[in-house]
Amino acid sequence: MPPKTEAPPRRATPSRPSPDFRDSNTRAGYVPGDNRIAILGPAPPSAGALHDCLIVSSLPSRRKICSGDTTSILREADRLLKTRYGTPRLGNKRHPISELVFIILSARTRGRHHEKIYRDLRRRFSSWEAVRDAPLREIELVIRDAGLSRIKARQIKTLLRRLTRDIGSLSPAPLRRMDTETLEAYLAGLPGVGLKTARCVMMYALDRAVFPVDTHCMRLFVNLGLIEGRMRFEYAQDVLQKVVPVEIRKTLHVNAVAHGRETCVPRSELCHQCVMAELCRNRR
Ligand code: SF4
Repeated sequence: MPPKTEAPPRRATPSRPSPDFRDSNTRAGYVPGDNRIAILGPAPPSAGALHDCLIVSSLPSRRKICSGDTTSILREADRLLKTRYGTPRLGNKRHPISELVFIILSARTRGRHHEKIYRDLRRRFSSWEAVRDAPLREIELVIRDAGLSRIKARQIKTLLRRLTRDIGSLSPAPLRRMDTETLEAYLAGLPGVGLKTARCVMMYALDRAVFPVDTHCMRLFVNLGLIEGRMRFEYAQDVLQKVVPVEIRKTLHVNAVAHGRETCVPRSELCHQCVMAELCRNRR
């Protein structure tokens, strides 16, 4: 019987150019029966242009992202949030392998409990190589309070083995050497790692100018009136990154997370003390 060959790594879909997004300073019209947009020319740079929405979807359901002065609105939001929260570290790691494991541990946990579990794991094992080579049960015991500990232990071990096989070690150097597109495709193709996680690792640990879209970022866009309707996260990763200026991607993401944790907490929003109140369309 011929030996089994492993499937090639999955490519990160958003590294392809998005076919259906248009620059925020252009206006667009819906083409009946075509579900694509047509560029109509530059948008007026007035504040009122915020409400001129354009349809950007060629996917099955139509969504809208608002045209007009999107870049200025995002820059102002970034300035306000940065002044208020000061771009905190949020516990994220500078070593890409550490950051990957940290994110896996944080999945489906409440509050900052995962930070303690991460510290327990680091205390118990001297290196990521030691975690990789440890019996599954031993890892599971250390992270037993993480929730889904069996699944997470297996995921961590599989990931560490896969990285060792692909790049020869658990050193960050080979990842640092990859160009951004290759890096994104590789990370997003790792078992259990989606595009959002890949971009978090790239942003926090590998200094790449990407914009991971999590629930806090999505909420920020909705509150700013830049998204109308529901937008799937996989789709948002591609579309929203392109409207955020490169130089504010990290600060906007980090401070949006801080804002979502401290002030714009779902169902407990503190609108009366919110720095975003003037820009927000959902102020209560
Ligand atoms: S004004 Fe309220 S809803 Fe709007 S961003 Fe601030 S806390 Fe959230």
